[in-house]
Amino acid sequence: MAEMTQIAARSALDQPAAFKRRGLLFVLSSPSGARKSTISRKLLADDPGLSMSVSATTRPMRPGEEDGKDYHFVDLAQFRQMTADNQFLEWAHVFGHRYGTPRAPVEGMLESGRDILFDIDWQGAQQLYQLAGGDVVRVFILPPSMAELEQRLRGRRTDSDEVIEGRMARAHGEIAHWDGYDYVLVNDDADACFAKVRTILYAERLKRSRQTGLIGFIRKLDREES
Ligand code: ADP
Ligand code: 5GP
Repeated sequence: MAEMTQIAARSALDQPAAFKRRGLLFVLSSPSGARKSTISRKLLADDPGLSMSVSATTRPMRPGEEDGKDYHFVDLAQFRQMTADNQFLEWAHVFGHRYGTPRAPVEGMLESGRDILFDIDWQGAQQLYQLAGGDVVRVFILPPSMAELEQRLRGRRTDSDEVIEGRMARAHGEIAHWDGYDYVLVNDDADACFAKVRTILYAERLKRSRQTGLIGFIRKLDREES
């Protein structure tokens, strides 16, 4: 990926407005049903400096989903063409379908000074990390128990029994990748988990390595009369 864009700090919990820092690629992963989408939605509503990366997928649209908002729904031929044209930052097979992160919108959002939220699996987190290393923050969300996970998937009422069984079988495999993440949280209480994710985002924005405006600011302090 191109050199990460320098973005001006914006929220009250960030550094002063003129203080430049590196844009963040904030990855949320979990076994399906751990309520990661619920947390993503709250985070986006809460934070005007954060934009969602909308993935492309070959999986069929679920009731209530919107093309271009939840996903870009494409067929296999279109997905293959996008892959051949190097249009994805990363892509992977998940649950028998293909999912990928379109490159251009991510680069555009970073250029316009926004941090980006990714709802992608461990394969995507791994690929993004290889591309953008220190600019990537990876958060993994665990369900409080497997029984609760199954109940949440059934409660969603958007997948057939067969699909739910497949997702439960895959959940163990996904959880096995917990150690590829910087943070691992248990989502036992939705509000508490959201608060933890938001704290991570705020703290990561303040990391010294992201504060590209820091040296200039310190030189300016040095020049000031005491
Ligand atoms: P994921 O993105 O991890 O697949 P979702 O965010 O779609 O999970 O949530 C899975 C299910 O749990 C959905 O049916 C959602 O409505 C439900 N859910 C989310 N938050 C809560 C909550 N606080 N209490 C009860 N059910 C919830
Ligand atoms: P779902 O079909 O429930 O929307 O998503 C299934 C899984 O695919 C989730 O774990 C989700 O995080 C993952 N996923 C969604 N988009 C992408 C993507 O662009 N790349 C990768 N690697 N995984 C994705």
